[in-house]
Amino acid sequence: MQPRRRTKQIWVGNLPVGGNAPISVQSMTKTDTRDVAATVAQIHALQQAGCEIIRSAVPDLQAAKSLGPIKRSIAIPLVADIHFDYTLALQAIEQGVDAIRFNPGNIGSEDRVKALVEAAGTRNVSIRIGVNGGSLEKDLLEKYGSSTPEALVASALRHVELLEKFGFTNLKISLKASDVPRTIAAYRLIAQRVDYPLHIGVTEAGTVNVGTVKSAVGLGILLSEGIGDTLRVSLTGSPLDEVRVGYDILKSLNLRQRGPVITSCPTCGRTEIDLVALATQVEQRLAHLTYPLHVAVMGCVVNGPGEAREADLGIAAGKQIGLLFKQGEVVGKFPEHELLEALCREAEALAASLSRK
Ligand code: SF4
Repeated sequence: MQPRRRTKQIWVGNLPVGGNAPISVQSMTKTDTRDVAATVAQIHALQQAGCEIIRSAVPDLQAAKSLGPIKRSIAIPLVADIHFDYTLALQAIEQGVDAIRFNPGNIGSEDRVKALVEAAGTRNVSIRIGVNGGSLEKDLLEKYGSSTPEALVASALRHVELLEKFGFTNLKISLKASDVPRTIAAYRLIAQRVDYPLHIGVTEAGTVNVGTVKSAVGLGILLSEGIGDTLRVSLTGSPLDEVRVGYDILKSLNLRQRGPVITSCPTCGRTEIDLVALATQVEQRLAHLTYPLHVAVMGCVVNGPGEAREADLGIAAGKQIGLLFKQGEVVGKFPEHELLEALCREAEALAASLSRK
């Protein structure tokens, strides 16, 4: 792991992004933003899952006007996602959002950029410049031949220069392509050019299965090089999965802690209980815990006792039975059908007592 890149710190509402702030996990609502009740309900579920910044699409004025009531009903920073129409950006700022995702080079005149920057500056609203391989400017596509990493970076720098020209530096940048190598190359390049915080992600990554792998590879490589201050995993699926996968990526690199870390063996010809079902149920049953409890669910006596002993809680299974370990000591021996309940009971009690310390 390379040390984290030193970036300028900005604030998205009450959340610091960049500098030495924890790498934050964000997502995007998938409801119609004009449906305030549905959008607020989805954000509440995401807050509960650990989402730290939420973005909502703003396709029209009615959506922009819904941002105020949404913002007043939630506890995490709200970002308005706007393309091209700067009047929507002004309306979103008026409605009290914490940040906007907007590319100022797309709005035609510098007077408009100036008006936008003034409105954002007055209300302490940060801007994410979000360059996307699928919507790159025509002249850059012609110059570079396609949406190459260099073209993505050139687009981002163009937007940055425009904001800087009006003295606005409260910004972060994303450069997203739908394939992993291009995304990585683009972020590596921009990281050498500016010290603004970077929002990282692989855009349109795919369904939950494929998108998780692509995001883990792409974001994992960038994070291991110290690149990335906030992330969003884009999945064709529930935003709750985006948040879960985001934390799993950060947890696997020891960059954040949230909720149980489960070690489980892959099973083999030695396994004599239904370990796949047990490990899956343990993961589901403990998903609500926020304490980073280490739980091992192991299939036999070969590696089981060692792993179970090293975890906060662990099971080393045998023939339709399992030994339950707590902080290195055996605390019980249970038949297979009682293992899940015994482990979950101990896990909830241990997580509660450790989080009080
Ligand atoms: Fe097989 Fe035992 Fe290893 Fe699990 S812990 S994979 S059951 S050898």
